[in-house]
Amino acid sequence: MNQEALLAWYERNKRPLPWRLDPSPWSILLSEILLQQTQMERGIEYHERLLKRFPTLSSMAESSVDDVLLLWQGAGYYSRARRLHALSIEVVEAYGGVLPKTYEELLKLPGIGPYTAAAVASIAFSEPVACVDGNVRRVMARQSNQEEPTANDVQRFADKHLVIDSPGEWNQAMMELGALVCKPRNPICDQCPVSETCNGRTRPHELPRPKTTKKTTVEYNCIVRIDENGAPELQQRPQTGLFAGLWGPEMATDLETNGCEFVGTIRHLLSHREMIVSVWKTVGGNGIDPLSVALSSLDRRILGLVGVIDDVP
Ligand code: SF4
Repeated sequence: MNQEALLAWYERNKRPLPWRLDPSPWSILLSEILLQQTQMERGIEYHERLLKRFPTLSSMAESSVDDVLLLWQGAGYYSRARRLHALSIEVVEAYGGVLPKTYEELLKLPGIGPYTAAAVASIAFSEPVACVDGNVRRVMARQSNQEEPTANDVQRFADKHLVIDSPGEWNQAMMELGALVCKPRNPICDQCPVSETCNGRTRPHELPRPKTTKKTTVEYNCIVRIDENGAPELQQRPQTGLFAGLWGPEMATDLETNGCEFVGTIRHLLSHREMIVSVWKTVGGNGIDPLSVALSSLDRRILGLVGVIDDVP
């Protein structure tokens, strides 16, 4: 893949997005979080609105989560807003209000997964880490003529081609190519700057093969209440529905987490559902021995993450 050609193409064709015109780390972070589940046009509108009200990360930390939610109205996936607010508070408390610069540190913050950590670290701080998103996966599948590349295949491809001297520009160039030229339905191969190395050019519409079972992604908050003896409070789940009859800490899609400490995020796959669970902890409740009740594997992972059991599958 001709990296110089792609970078030159990107320089000529990149869209003048607000976070490219004002590339502050906070502006870049906001854009990456918004665009996870919001279309570009809408993302730009909300980005402008949020940045006007919260020009700095500290200004968001000083506001209430309700202020953030109010501005978020209509953008959907409100847990992003809650986690962003939690992130702003954590960055003020742990880093004096300055967003940490490395992939590893960013990954520990609320709401930041591998993609967002790589995007912010590379674009805002020039750390040489490769981003992998749907655009990169599609470009990779077509360049390599692979119908079903695994996540590892795509990551290896992205790592191998990363331009170490310009990681932010390179990552954006790859994603912009996927968004503007190597599009899902109608790729414009005759305008592609890397068509010479494309092994799938004769059948791009077949690559990558669409996934047959589409999983629904559902985001949850889970609060683990830990009593004075270090035991977690657990409830038996209803006899119907998800994890019916098993025990676990309180978990719901809209659980209020005020006053709780963010511990981490767990991605858990079920047959037709992807669960993204933000795990929080707090002090209190009436704990029980977690090994004395039946737990789902997700609940074991949650309790393992919080550190009240060792058994993490
Ligand atoms: S030649 Fe076509 S299929 Fe190949 S990377 Fe370029 S746009 Fe995509």
